[in-house]
Amino acid sequence: MSVSFYLNLGLEMALIYVVSTISFDVVHYLLHRFAKSKYRFLQRLGDLHETHHRWFGPNLRHVDELAMPNLMHHRIPEYLNQVAVTGAFLLVANPLGVALVAVVHTVALVFVLCWRGVDMNHQKTVRLKHPRGHFFVTPSYHYLHHVHNDSHMGSFVQVFDWIMGSCVHLKGQRVAMTGASGAYGSAMKNLLERAGAIVTPLKYGVDYDYADYSRVHDVLRNADILFLAHGSKVEDAMAANCDSFVALIELFRSLTQERLVPPQVWAMGSEIECHPTFGVPELAAYAQSKRAYARYARNYNRAEDILYRHIVTSAFTSRMGRGLMSAKAAAWLSLWLIKRGFRYVPVSYTGVALLNFGLFVAGDRIEAIARLGRSAPARDTTEIVAA
Ligand SMILES: [Zn+2]
Ligand SMILES: [Zn+2]
Repeated sequence: MSVSFYLNLGLEMALIYVVSTISFDVVHYLLHRFAKSKYRFLQRLGDLHETHHRWFGPNLRHVDELAMPNLMHHRIPEYLNQVAVTGAFLLVANPLGVALVAVVHTVALVFVLCWRGVDMNHQKTVRLKHPRGHFFVTPSYHYLHHVHNDSHMGSFVQVFDWIMGSCVHLKGQRVAMTGASGAYGSAMKNLLERAGAIVTPLKYGVDYDYADYSRVHDVLRNADILFLAHGSKVEDAMAANCDSFVALIELFRSLTQERLVPPQVWAMGSEIECHPTFGVPELAAYAQSKRAYARYARNYNRAEDILYRHIVTSAFTSRMGRGLMSAKAAAWLSLWLIKRGFRYVPVSYTGVALLNFGLFVAGDRIEAIARLGRSAPARDTTEIVAA
């Protein structure tokens, strides 16, 4: 047998495996819908899967008495679903590949039965880390489904959640939001509230100022998401666009350290992190402040105690100036991408936000290389976070 035969077989098996798991994701989604149906028959079907959630509840602890019902009502039907869809590939695929995928599903089931259902996606947990990666389902991704049953439906890959926009849970989430009266902020506030979130605006001069953040403690202590959408192009640009962002994020982190599910921070970046100011003097202070904040944001992006999302938009029309996109369009697209799991959120018609992604994930290394070429002593960007 040639190398290409094994290559084709491997690719075919990967495809069959992924499709068979996504087929269960569809059934999984329907079972959750059925559980809320007014029809008793559908309720009973949905209740089979509810056993899984009763066994491993939103507190991420097991109810040992439900270990066997979980296997009978959830894990074995999931296996049968996956094997039936795998078997259907006999019509179009190599029977050897189909058989091998069925064996993989069967071996996985045997292990789960031996572990009484406690596989790596269902370990008792005290504090979650936020999921990394954008394709495969990791334990921390699946845990979020147990905390928020209407999102994070994927079992092996996140594709179903990309399609449904269920990579993030918004219903009932408490959002503390700065800049909520601005063009982008008010559009985003409407969208979040339509999705079921509860938005509390934090107003500069009323709830906080650059010298005093004590009045936002209560709101931040109870918030699930801190959304920083304020900014200034002229007055106190560094204080508005960098220092206050960092102060609010650090305060939020310190107030939410005991959470089972670490909170999220969504913050507005800018394409000016990447492109020049084109000699426009009014843009210089703005650019300096946004680039200074981007250095902090790179560290937040790697943090495990918060899920950080960096929203980088092209210019949109607001009080700060005119753009080729409305603030409503920018907000809609931001949320569309966030619902599909984007942590770096490029809302761009110029493409600069896409270029900036490289700088965002590897900026520290790029700056270090640039410093090597200069004689000036290096300044470690991690110092900035510790400051
Ligand atoms: Zn589960
Ligand atoms: Zn479920």
